[in-house]
Amino acid sequence: MSFSALNLDANILRAIADAGYTEPTPIQVQAIPPILAGQDLIGIAQTGTGKTAAFTLPLLTKLAASPGHGRGTRVLVLAPTRELVVQIEENIRAYGKYLPFKMATVFGGVGEHAQIKALQSGLEIIVATPGRLLDLMGRRYSDFSGLQYLVLDEADRMLDMGFLPSIRQIVRSLPKQRQTLLFSATLSREIEGLTHEFQRSPKLVQIGRRSNPAETVTQWAYEVPRSRKVALLAHLLDDPNMNMVLIFVRMKHSADRLARQLETHGVTCATLHSNRSQNQRLRALRDFKSGVVRVLVATDIAARGIDVDGISHVVNFDFPMHSEDYVHRIGRTGRAQAIGDAISFVTPEDHGELRSLERFIGRGLVRKHAEGFDYTDRPEVRSSQPQHGHRQGQQRRPQQQQQRPQRPQQRPQQPQRSQHPLQREDSWHSGFAPEPGSQSGGHRPRSGNRPGGNMPGGPRPGGRPFRRSWGR
Ligand code: AMP
Repeated sequence: MSFSALNLDANILRAIADAGYTEPTPIQVQAIPPILAGQDLIGIAQTGTGKTAAFTLPLLTKLAASPGHGRGTRVLVLAPTRELVVQIEENIRAYGKYLPFKMATVFGGVGEHAQIKALQSGLEIIVATPGRLLDLMGRRYSDFSGLQYLVLDEADRMLDMGFLPSIRQIVRSLPKQRQTLLFSATLSREIEGLTHEFQRSPKLVQIGRRSNPAETVTQWAYEVPRSRKVALLAHLLDDPNMNMVLIFVRMKHSADRLARQLETHGVTCATLHSNRSQNQRLRALRDFKSGVVRVLVATDIAARGIDVDGISHVVNFDFPMHSEDYVHRIGRTGRAQAIGDAISFVTPEDHGELRSLERFIGRGLVRKHAEGFDYTDRPEVRSSQPQHGHRQGQQRRPQQQQQRPQRPQQRPQQPQRSQHPLQREDSWHSGFAPEPGSQSGGHRPRSGNRPGGNMPGGPRPGGRPFRRSWGR
């Protein structure tokens, strides 16, 4: 199917052509017609499959078809993190670049003055995190009386217990007569049960399984004693194919510590977690995207939505506490048909969570063993001392521009079944995720998206040179 068959506005088709998209993705094919027809919708599709455009393109078409003439804010998009908000905004600007609408973003961690002005001037599109928006709404800076369209991106996160009260409060002050769209890569039955509060007879559009990690990601598990995790990571990072590596840890202080430890092995890292200022977070992402550093160590605030082109590997240095987080974390690679590897370190303490995860995703992770690595458990060594016994003193350098060789396409086998002990340690406050150990409301990220940057078949510096087709 071509985009022109979808009844989108001609100016949007021009922008899509500029972005280099040749055909709509499956979620776009299925979601755009009902959204144009005015239906409420729940869209479930794997990460990186074009969900943002799936709601943006039809909404912009609708705005263009009936100009607002000062009717105030007509579209409100809510997303869990400021980075995601920025990314959605960039997408909307790119797809709507030939249209005259005005838009603003509202999120915490930055000054509120410009956001207050934007809210008061009744811009047509607001993209916001719930915490800051609620704060400003509470002080009567917003007027959503003319709101027509509400989008909840990362809906499963937006409707979980941490966010739900804020979302309920925001939605209570929106007009009842509106179109509401929910998009997510995962959506549990419990959360789906809540959607009736916000939507009317929504159409469910689901591409693939609900809990599918991206098909383009090859998943591996390394069983390793806790004391040897840093050394194993340093060992794996010797591989020049690991040219753009996003490493997940559970706690923000672990992110800083791991970054320091890797630096003693000659690996320069950026870090991303909620204790860092907005500027530091933006700089970390910029350095990672541009290849100044090849390794970004992050907490789960980076797990959702970050669309960085060409991430070759996601490493779960700390096994994710929640299976949904695993799906989101590894979705940072393998985006838009590029392929990627997801590596999970599994300590003896993580086995229960591993079994739960395998049950959740409906397959087993292939166990891998690092060649030439000494797995012998030993007392943990402090960060100032190199732990990587094999090549002490050897400098590892970014290999950003290197083309990745073709990778084995091994697929995991069926899993064992077990109970799923999901227990969230994080809760949500002020629209952001405080992480374990947080003093204040934390912040979850995503980064700048570049429509066209992930075009099928397009060359990507340091990224993978080949793609698979959009999965169904
Ligand atoms: P998303 O799932 O919205 O984060 O999008 C993932 C990536 O796919 C983004 O980099 C988009 O720019 C890109 N993308 C979205 N729609 C298309 C399309 N129809 N063809 C090619 N790339 C696309």
